[in-house]
Amino acid sequence: MKLAIRGGLVLTPEGVAAADLLVEGDKVAAIGNDLDLAGAIEIDARGCLVGPGLVDVHTHLREPGQTWKEDLASGTRAAAAGGFTALVAMPNTEPPIDDGALVADIAKRARSLGPIEIHAAGALTVGRKGSEPADVEEMYLAGTRLFTDDGDCVEDVHLAEELMRALARLPGAVFAQHAERASMTRDGHMHEGPASRRLGIGGLPSDAESQIVARDLGLARKTGVSYHCQHVSALGTVDLIREAKSEGLPVTAEVTPHHLTFSETDLESLDPNFKMYPPLRADEDRLALRSGLLDGTIDVVATDHAPHTTAEKAVGFTRSPRGVIGLETAAAATWEAVFDPHRFFEVLSSRPARIAGMRTQGHLPMAGSPANLVVFDPDKRWTASSFFSKSSNSPYLGRQMKGRVVATIAAGELVYQQQGGRA
Ligand SMILES: [Zn+2]
Repeated sequence: MKLAIRGGLVLTPEGVAAADLLVEGDKVAAIGNDLDLAGAIEIDARGCLVGPGLVDVHTHLREPGQTWKEDLASGTRAAAAGGFTALVAMPNTEPPIDDGALVADIAKRARSLGPIEIHAAGALTVGRKGSEPADVEEMYLAGTRLFTDDGDCVEDVHLAEELMRALARLPGAVFAQHAERASMTRDGHMHEGPASRRLGIGGLPSDAESQIVARDLGLARKTGVSYHCQHVSALGTVDLIREAKSEGLPVTAEVTPHHLTFSETDLESLDPNFKMYPPLRADEDRLALRSGLLDGTIDVVATDHAPHTTAEKAVGFTRSPRGVIGLETAAAATWEAVFDPHRFFEVLSSRPARIAGMRTQGHLPMAGSPANLVVFDPDKRWTASSFFSKSSNSPYLGRQMKGRVVATIAAGELVYQQQGGRA
C-alpha cells in the first residue's frame, strides 16, 4: 500500500519540514515537496504535525479475564484512534501475566489483530501476590522488558531487592513500580487533604507514594537496576526523582494525562470517573507534575488506561472501582500541557519507546524509517463524547479539548482516520 501524507509539518531528525511524506510498504519512502505520489491514498495533513506514532507504556487491556471491560481488539481500536502505534499491556489480568507462555500468547494474539504493537509487561511476583518472585528471565526471553505488579506495589524490601538484582542482569529490563504503601491507603478513596476532610471520605496520603519511591531509589542505587516510577502523582515524588537523576541513577518516570489536567477540586461532584489510583491531588502537585514533565524529571506521559463499565462505576464514589480510560484523550491532554511539537513527541513517543525497548517505534520520520506515524492537528477543538474503547469511564467526557489525532499509520497501514476530517 502507498500512502501520501500531504502538506503537514513533518518532524524529521533534521528539524521540522513543511513537506509531503510518502509511505511504501512498512517504511517511510521519502519526505519532500516534489514527490511522485501517483497511486497513493492521500491524507490531508495541512495544519497538522506529522511525527512518530505514539507509544504507551501503561495500558490495561483486561485480557485475559475481564474482557467485558476491554479486550485486545477493542483496546487496539482505541489505541489507533488515540494515535498510538504501540503499547505495553499491564499484567494485572486474570490470570495475571506472570510466565513466558502468557507473554508469548498476548504477543501472538496481538499480531493476529493487526499492526499495532502490543507488548505484555510481566508481573514481578507469582500471581501478583507480592510474596514469591516470578520467573522474570523466562518472561524476558519471551520478549518482556517492563516488569511490574501494577495495581499493587512490591512492598517487601527483600523481595524488591532480589527482583532488582535479577533484572539488573538482563539488558534493557526495567523494574517498574506502582508505588503505594498499602497500610496507608486501606480506607482511602481520594487524595488526603482539605477536600477529603470536607467530604468526609477516607484519604490517600502523598507519603504512601513517596515513601516507597524513596526506598526504591535506595535499592536502585544498590543494585544498579533500571527503575521506572509509574504514574507519579505527588510533588514530593517529583523532587525525589529529580535528585536521583542529578545523581545519575538510571531512573525514569511517567505521569498520566489526567494528573496533568485535573486536581482534587474536580472531585467535589463525586463523579466516579474522577476516581483513580493514584488519586488526583492538590493543584500544587499538578503543577509540579507539569514542570517535572517540562524539565525532563518526568520522562513520559503514560495513559494508565483502565477501563471499567458504566454499571461497575455507577455504584457510588466509595464503592466504585479505581481507574479511568485514557488512550483516546492522551494526545490532546498532553498537547495542552506541553504545547511544543518536539516535547510532545518526546514524551509520547521516542522516550516511551526507549523505555519499553521497542526498536521500530519512536523514530522521527526519515527516508527508510519504520512507517509508524501519527498525524495530529494541534489546533482542532473537539469534545470527547464517545469512545472506541468498550468502556467510557473518562474524566474528559464532555470536556472541550484542543488537539486531535487525524490519522494513525502502523507498520505502513492506515489504522485510523478521523471521520469528518478534511482527509
Ligand atoms: Zn498502577
